[in-house]
Amino acid sequence: MFRFSTPCFVLFAGFLFLPILKAAPPVIIIDPGHGGSSVAGSLSSRSNSSPNNANSPGGLKEKDLTLEFSKILHDEILRQASGEAVQVGVLLTRHDDRNLNFIERAAIANRSDTACVISIHFNAGGGGKAKGSLSLISARERNANYAADEAFGKALAEACNAGVRQYLPSSKSRGVITDGHLHGGLGSNFFFQMARHKNLRSVPKCFLEVEFMDNPDVEKALLKGNREEKFRTIAASIAEYLIRWIGPKAK
Ligand SMILES: [Zn+2]
Repeated sequence: MFRFSTPCFVLFAGFLFLPILKAAPPVIIIDPGHGGSSVAGSLSSRSNSSPNNANSPGGLKEKDLTLEFSKILHDEILRQASGEAVQVGVLLTRHDDRNLNFIERAAIANRSDTACVISIHFNAGGGGKAKGSLSLISARERNANYAADEAFGKALAEACNAGVRQYLPSSKSRGVITDGHLHGGLGSNFFFQMARHKNLRSVPKCFLEVEFMDNPDVEKALLKGNREEKFRTIAASIAEYLIRWIGPKAK
């Protein structure tokens, strides 16, 4: 006759309870692009992050807007997640005006529970006349996760632009572009450093360029006046998509 000894029972009870132990919630990594006053990292190690790339006609700096927007997006994701009973974590790579090189940014993102990596930027180019939101992803030839990145980037650019259009109705989503034109065809050093971590190769990753900040119309509509409220509207639209995307993984 078989009898449960105490250790055996404990082991059995442990198996019973295992399935109801909650796994760690998935984490969304938000990387506020640029920061500080000098280049971090080096071109030779493919880790160089520039302190600031774009300026508005009125003198706003991209590095400040990326941080401001990222903090609002962080709060919006957590606010909506709690309303929908979705378990999710949000982590920023920086919280103040400092630059981190891409090795450091990738190290922060390199977690077993990372669900996606979104690097927030504001665009410039087109002689101050361009408008639109877009995502930049790693090019197909060096990206095993291309299809997932493309779908994720497209949806993020659309969600972002839906928020932008509330203040700038003539803006459009420009969808997804790839990094094939950067560094003589080698692609983005940010993606290069991320791809060195096995954990991160299959995680959706993109740069999200919220709008062209060098366009005076964009500055007037989005970056002046009550900017915090405007950023909150755009962040809410992005957060809505992210919660829908992550929901099934996090309930
Ligand atoms: Zn940038």
